[in-house]
Amino acid sequence: MNHTPDYIQEIRSQFPLLERKVHGKPLVYFDNAATTQKPQMVIDRISEYYSSENANIHRGVHHLSQIATNDYEDARIKIKNYIGASKENEIIFTKGTTDGINLIASSFGEQLNKGDEVLISAMEHHSNIVPWQLLAERKEIVLKVISIHQDGTLDMESFKSLLSEKTKLVSITHISNTLGTINPIETIINQAHQFGAKVLIDGAQSIQHGEINVTKLNCDFFVFSGHKIFGPTGVGILYGKESVLDHMPPYQGGGDMIKRVSFDKTSYNELPFKFEAGTPNIVGGIALGTAIKFMESIDTDRAFSYENELLSHAENELTDIENLKVYGTSALKTSLVSFNIGTIHPFDIGTLLDKQGIAVRTGHHCTQPLMDFYGIPGTIRASFSIYNTKEEVDIFIHALKRAINVLS
Ligand code: PMP
Repeated sequence: MNHTPDYIQEIRSQFPLLERKVHGKPLVYFDNAATTQKPQMVIDRISEYYSSENANIHRGVHHLSQIATNDYEDARIKIKNYIGASKENEIIFTKGTTDGINLIASSFGEQLNKGDEVLISAMEHHSNIVPWQLLAERKEIVLKVISIHQDGTLDMESFKSLLSEKTKLVSITHISNTLGTINPIETIINQAHQFGAKVLIDGAQSIQHGEINVTKLNCDFFVFSGHKIFGPTGVGILYGKESVLDHMPPYQGGGDMIKRVSFDKTSYNELPFKFEAGTPNIVGGIALGTAIKFMESIDTDRAFSYENELLSHAENELTDIENLKVYGTSALKTSLVSFNIGTIHPFDIGTLLDKQGIAVRTGHHCTQPLMDFYGIPGTIRASFSIYNTKEEVDIFIHALKRAINVLS
């Protein structure tokens, strides 16, 4: 019997959804790489905003508008501090990771010329592939792909061989959402800078699993989604170095991003507003600030280390299962495990696990080129968060064995 430490119980007790049942069984939520559940304080903040503060921001002299503006800008400051940025104007609110990458592909990409090169890796999420393919069509830039090894680690020799004076941007995921691999981004940033290339880090997965300090990392851009760090969907962050953002053209035109509009000439607002056209997801931004407050209220060191124990525990238990193959066995890995069992289709396992109250993800996880690399249609992915327990891992393993018995 695995006893859950008090500090994990305390975190867990703040997430009301974890109390619910699915198909009459207690929910085991192992789909945290897709989205995280929300603590009560985030849920309350959303309700409180609409119950007593709702107003549009940045434009009104009236009391409510000022409160909403202050709270939204306060959230920006919280996020700035949390990811170690030096200035608030380097924090741009977006709709999420995908939106942030598209913003950079569109705006930074506009400055690229025919023959310039962008490097991505073979383990990228579709949202860090397709925007660059669209740019390649539009601007005739060349997209190059850093290869990976069978164990799901990045081939650093491939990276070095592709890097040249033609490289203008390296856009790479910090942590693979399919394999859990943690990439050596410090080395990548350092080496890319030696060639004058900028670096964009896709932090969609890393934001919920460890400390991020964009200043120490020295990356040029860092993007993430609010919903992957216990905040709402529809809001995210693009961090960019002021010196880089300042030279980029606006992404979308509209209200808030302008200084002065006339039919002859329009001038643009300063950072960060230059990249924030239109009424934003105000409550989303404010509640993301609350999610950051939640992270600051817990002992993240202990929580992250328990999360790693969950991974080791799950991986140990899985080794006993016949014909089970794990994808992504890097020594540097975050708390998710992707696998297949013989020729059983991942979807069938996922369906039988669901009947037992267990939420895992099955399929290609928006990484089809990675699936092609392994020659498989998809995997079963169990991804853990700071509120999961070893008991839940045991329930999952037991349910998995039952599913395999039914299917084989
Ligand atoms: N990159 C990675 C590594 C991801 O895991 C995800 C979400 N699965 C995304 C990008 C896209 O995030 P979103 O859908 O929130 O924009």
